[in-house]
Amino acid sequence: MSLINNERETRDQITGALTTSVFMQQVEELRKACPGESYTFIYLMIPNFKSYNLGFGYASGNRFLQQFAELLENSFVGQLVARESSHHFMVLDRAHSGKETVETLRECQSAVNRMKGGEHLLLNAGIVSGRFGELGDDDVYQSFDRARYACSYAERGHGRQFVIYGSSVQRKIDFELYLLREFFPAMERGDIQPFYQPEVRALTEQCCGYEALARWVDAKYGMIAPDAFIPLLERELLIPQLDLHIIRQVCKDIRDELDCGVITVPVSVNLSRIDFQMLDVFEEIEKLREEFHVPRYYLNIEITESAIAEGAVYMAPVIDRFCEAGYQVWMDDFGSGYSSLNNLQDFSFDVLKIDMGFLRQFSTNPKSGVIVREIINLAKRMGLGTLAEGVETREQFEFLKECGCEKVQGYLFSKPLKVDRSVSMYDQVTTGEFSRIPREKREDSRYYKRIADVNYLSSSPMESGLYITSNSLPIVIIEVIGGEQINFLYCNEAYRGILHSAGIEDLEAANVRGNEVDIPENRQFIELAKRAESVGRVRGDILINGIIFKTDMMFLARKGERAAFLNVVQNLSPNFVSEHAEAMSLAQEYILTEYFRVDLFDEDGTAMNVYLDADQQRITDETDRTERAVDLYARRYIRSDEADAFREFYSMDTVLERVRKSGEKHLVHIFHPADSERNGEQQCYTITPFRMGERWKFLSTCRRLK
Ligand code: C2E
Ligand code: CA
Ligand code: CA
Repeated sequence: MSLINNERETRDQITGALTTSVFMQQVEELRKACPGESYTFIYLMIPNFKSYNLGFGYASGNRFLQQFAELLENSFVGQLVARESSHHFMVLDRAHSGKETVETLRECQSAVNRMKGGEHLLLNAGIVSGRFGELGDDDVYQSFDRARYACSYAERGHGRQFVIYGSSVQRKIDFELYLLREFFPAMERGDIQPFYQPEVRALTEQCCGYEALARWVDAKYGMIAPDAFIPLLERELLIPQLDLHIIRQVCKDIRDELDCGVITVPVSVNLSRIDFQMLDVFEEIEKLREEFHVPRYYLNIEITESAIAEGAVYMAPVIDRFCEAGYQVWMDDFGSGYSSLNNLQDFSFDVLKIDMGFLRQFSTNPKSGVIVREIINLAKRMGLGTLAEGVETREQFEFLKECGCEKVQGYLFSKPLKVDRSVSMYDQVTTGEFSRIPREKREDSRYYKRIADVNYLSSSPMESGLYITSNSLPIVIIEVIGGEQINFLYCNEAYRGILHSAGIEDLEAANVRGNEVDIPENRQFIELAKRAESVGRVRGDILINGIIFKTDMMFLARKGERAAFLNVVQNLSPNFVSEHAEAMSLAQEYILTEYFRVDLFDEDGTAMNVYLDADQQRITDETDRTERAVDLYARRYIRSDEADAFREFYSMDTVLERVRKSGEKHLVHIFHPADSERNGEQQCYTITPFRMGERWKFLSTCRRLK
């Protein structure tokens, strides 16, 4: 104690306990003076003390801490008691074992709760027992570290309020201490590296990016996952060093790829909240990017929703800077339980990464699917890209694709991949050794992005903005390739229903048809597509296997030979059907009263009766050849002296020429019927030619003149 002669300097001003440096000096002197003597080192804290300060003010807070220090002095009589920092204290007890000190700490806890305003306050402590000199010269410091760790371990809620440093927690704590000691050397040795997990475009299943995930490959512990070191580095405020280390390596890898000429896709990097507090993270990333001449396009910034929820105020301007500079900023773990919706409103993001928690429950809880779908809908309405994380099964993938999710990431496609630094990037990428998933070219990425922006869940996917969710509209995205081939890129369930009703099994079958030139719907799609590309959006009819569908077609994007179009096929809503049916029945009634028969002739020489009243027989049941039908009709139903004129009038070969000569749109002739009762009656026969597709058709109507 010889060094300390001024009482004021040895004592903490607020609580009167020893200061840390004096405490450590005294412990050190004891260690030297009493080798082999046993001691118990206690590190303790009041984790929720902040709430006391907030509730009662700092002056009361300080008085409370002073009382607390007194309580410790009285509970550990004659022992060294120090205040380490705000609400953290240390005790060196040379009289009691670890177990005995736990008893004392329990009594302290009760006493704290009896103090004014202390009812809800909690104590945590880490306790280390040992003998001086046992661990060598720095045993005091090691004990201090361990006790502090045991305390923070308790604080992190491992079910124990007071943790005695012993074999069960020892390993965990030693591991963490090991990581902290080894962190900088490990970075230096290159043991900490980014692994790359492919991000896959749902429409094409090509790799459109990677996420860089930190991995620590350690000589002693093997591969260490980020869960083991990221939260630790965050707690110890070392995460900025890790993040910059990873981003530096990512920039280096991107540079290598660009230099060797392989297709290079953007890489997403993860930032922590603490990066925004401790660094000018924007500037730091810019420096690295410039050092390796990496265009901003190749780096995406991921920030978790929880980080944003906690650090909104100081993060917002930095996020804006990233966006303004042209980086994409992605919100990570969206929907994992923070105030996500506010964040969407307050920040500008480019992509929502949907938390994998929803997919974990996908097969057991139908609600999770509903939520994922609504998140995709919401994201698209706000003009954001979508990426679903943790996709492990085909079933999950198909669901996400149907909803229009733009990208997916997960074990179904690939685990995070290691770069082999002994082999050139060119070899690894071109041989597929790095990843077998083919990479998307940059120009393709723009093209597909435009297509992915369509909200398949909307009842008006061609509009942007707010609308009611419904995906009962049949939607199909077609690509016209080289102006003659159709590729169906996407369709939803409702469109699949349409395919079924037209006798086509699925999109694959549709695509097989899409390659055939003489299939009418292909020609019609291509025809409409041409017009849509020049004017933006057109409506038209598509005849699929004899069934007419109305489609509304919008041009989305072109890339070389390929052009993509969104089609919303008209859904005959019940409303529309009833209106339609009503009009049809009115028209029918009119036809019934006005005409006694209606026929349709084709230029190929066939005839079809469309309507006939009860007085006549259906000649077309006997023959469908126009000439023969006309002859039979003339003999049966036309007064014999007019039969030849009738045959001539219905000579289809000359109809078009006669119409042209007449200057009218149709031919009209009056004949008398054959049956004697009606002999006085005149009948008016009209032939109207019209074009249907490539062919001429002739509509014949017969009406009685009163
Ligand atoms: P994250 O950003 O949400 O990363 C996705 C995590 O999901 C990764 O875990 C990845 O390996 C894992 N994952 C990918 N696909 C699947 C799947 O299909 N199923 C399941 N169950 N998991 C899948 P990882 O690599 O252990 O990383 C954990 C977290 O650590 C990351 O979560 C991220 O928040 C953080 N992290 C990783 N690297 C860094 C880094 O360099 N800096 C910072 N600040 N955080 C990092
Ligand atoms: Ca991430
Ligand atoms: Ca995530």
